[in-house]
Amino acid sequence: MESEGRNGKKLILVPGPFQGHLTPMLQLATILNPDSSAHPNFTFLCIPDGLSEEEVRNPDLMGIVLRLNVNCESSFRECLTRGTNHMEPVDKICCIIYDAFVYFSEAVVRDLKIPSIALHTSSAATTIVRPILLQLKAQGHIPIPDSMLQALVPLHRPLRFKDLPLSNFGSLDYFLELVVLVSNIRSSSAIIFNMIHCLEESPLAQLHQQFQVPIFAIGPLHKLAPTSAVSLLQEDTGCISWLDKQTHNSVIYVSLGSIAHLDQDQLSEMAWGLANSKQPFLWVIRPGSIPGSEWIESMDEEFKECVKDRACIVKWAPQKKVLAHDAVGGFWSHCGWNSTLESIGEGVPIICQPCFGDQNVNARYLTHEWKVGLELEGEIERGTVERAVRTLMKEKEGEEMRQRVLDLKHKVEVSIGDGGYSSHYLSELVELLTSF
Ligand code: UDP
Repeated sequence: MESEGRNGKKLILVPGPFQGHLTPMLQLATILNPDSSAHPNFTFLCIPDGLSEEEVRNPDLMGIVLRLNVNCESSFRECLTRGTNHMEPVDKICCIIYDAFVYFSEAVVRDLKIPSIALHTSSAATTIVRPILLQLKAQGHIPIPDSMLQALVPLHRPLRFKDLPLSNFGSLDYFLELVVLVSNIRSSSAIIFNMIHCLEESPLAQLHQQFQVPIFAIGPLHKLAPTSAVSLLQEDTGCISWLDKQTHNSVIYVSLGSIAHLDQDQLSEMAWGLANSKQPFLWVIRPGSIPGSEWIESMDEEFKECVKDRACIVKWAPQKKVLAHDAVGGFWSHCGWNSTLESIGEGVPIICQPCFGDQNVNARYLTHEWKVGLELEGEIERGTVERAVRTLMKEKEGEEMRQRVLDLKHKVEVSIGDGGYSSHYLSELVELLTSF
């Protein structure tokens, strides 16, 4: 993706191929675009990934990312070289900003002597603890033994070993190889984080020690670029009209993001927990996210009948609008980093059900550091779900979380306002880009 700046120089942005990676990169592009109202200065270029249908369907996401990085390097090089011959000379490219997961782009521009900046789309806390996984592997502690799981990770409170960002997709070796490649910034001039200074002051200080280049903590990006349309799936806007008919803070919004899957038992326990809570709910169930079902045809008819007057189930929602809606009083989330920032940005407390990777870190911070979330641990079971929904939506404990997250929302607004940390880091980033 190319964007042309006022000096006529081009900025190239290379996003990662998942919703949770694409979204922050497009938001960053919108912020950096000198005419963000019309996007006339964006050009989208496709880089062939060379993956077969069968490879794309493989559940080993880490293996796919590794292969994609190998496959894309030559096509990206060709794309830039073609640009050199037919569009703009390389010296007209001021910089590339690449998602840390698509590090192939850095290798190409290093050869072409173009400056680069990495964008990390997870939290600062996740980034600083990733190297611990490599130490544990070297010590023979991965898989992490049961006896260690509940222990706190030294120097990384409030994280326990069980909260470390391990992937459960496919091969562990692929995952650890990716950790090394993603953590290495090679020749990049700086790193951008989609983060909020006041939430992650301590991890940010540790990042400054870990990396010897400028770090720009610019976030939450969705608040700085509120208008960008970034969904890969079609949003069902009908759920907003449904929300319009619900009362203030009455609805629990349920979504497990763009990657997580549920089995039939988990689906059924979630459904009955929600039904028994008697709370209105808006539930996103992605088509294909329940193995063996196209969508919700396999769901219990008795459940559908029981909740028909207080439930809205959609395939994909305009999440930021949903969280900003007056009727939404809680979010049952997998705690992806974008969802975490979006919920805090709208002052909505969370029921945390992390599925894998950095979601574990985010959930622990939500529940034990910022204290704006309730943890759903272990197997999903309808009684636990019912209690968690009631606690969050109806009880004093939930109300206290709501007050705390509203305080954080206010701090976010200060951070993105004039003189705030995010604004300050953004100005520094722009200064660096214009110096290239
Ligand atoms: N999202 C959305 N509609 C939905 C569910 C999710 O627009 O129905 C968006 C959400 O706003 C967020 C992104 O998808 O920006 C999910 O990213 P996140 O990092 O939370 O989780 P991931 O999908 O990467 O696991």
